[in-house]
Amino acid sequence: MSTLRYADEVKQSSAYKSIAADIERGEFSHAYFICSEDKDAIDTLFALVAMRVYCPDGCGKCAECHKVLMRSKPDVKYLAEGKENFTVAEMTEVTEDAGMTAFEGGRKLYFFKNFENLAEPPQNKLLKTLEEPFEKVHFILSASSTASVLPTVLSRVKQLSLTAFPEESVRQALIKDGVPADRAARGAKLAQGNLTRAREFAVDEDFQRHVGEVTDLLLSLKSSADAYRFLREGIFSKERIERTISMFELVFHCVMSRHLDLPVALAEHKEAIDGIAEMYSLAAVGEASEVLLTCRARLKANCNATNVADYLLLKLVEVKYKCRSSLA
Ligand SMILES: [Zn+2]
Repeated sequence: MSTLRYADEVKQSSAYKSIAADIERGEFSHAYFICSEDKDAIDTLFALVAMRVYCPDGCGKCAECHKVLMRSKPDVKYLAEGKENFTVAEMTEVTEDAGMTAFEGGRKLYFFKNFENLAEPPQNKLLKTLEEPFEKVHFILSASSTASVLPTVLSRVKQLSLTAFPEESVRQALIKDGVPADRAARGAKLAQGNLTRAREFAVDEDFQRHVGEVTDLLLSLKSSADAYRFLREGIFSKERIERTISMFELVFHCVMSRHLDLPVALAEHKEAIDGIAEMYSLAAVGEASEVLLTCRARLKANCNATNVADYLLLKLVEVKYKCRSSLA
């Protein structure tokens, strides 16, 4: 039987507790929206909610829970899990499907991950179903942020957020999932409570070198001419760019800690972090974080890696100088 990664940790989250309490009281809402960048935790949350709907204890062991874990329940659908865009025609299929009788006569669940990738027309299509919900049909949507979700959609769903997990709980979750203890500690320390990122940092064979490449780049990125030079570097290849963005986020987080006199996580790269902190003011770090979020959104929307890297590097040059002059 398949086991569910991070089940103990996600069960402790307020998002899970809140939905479980609604089910308990007979007030399971027709639609939820869960805001989180932690995609692994979202997968687990979806499975836990489905188990709780069909099994009073969400035990994880009975036939119903087993079917959920094997994804073989006909009334539970997982939509848009890949990176592909979801069209109005596909959404129409979903809303028509929602109107049909359940195979097993109970509740029907539609889990919708990466909702931020959805364009306005398919969101509008779903809106009508959210406004006039079918009985015993539930939509559980999730996205990294609410920025690209229509306000009309948000007003029709119960909004919850999956907040950061405590460092110790992330460390133990990784160890239970088979990550060696020293690597689990590293991932947990750096991931700011995000299980997906913690695992990424923990299993990365190339971690220290990759951080070094990013800090070297930041120390020598001075003009848009440098930006064009760096564009050709391997860290921005199609295969590596996503992890490189995580490294940038991590390095800027350390630079922020340095500005605020908080402990800096990447002790091995202390000198480089100090150097970057001299070049990027606290305001510049804040703006750089926004730029990185935009890069992630563009990658998710299938933008070309070189275009995303180009945007990132030129914006970094820009925020560095803009925020410097505003300090003067
Ligand atoms: Zn069960």
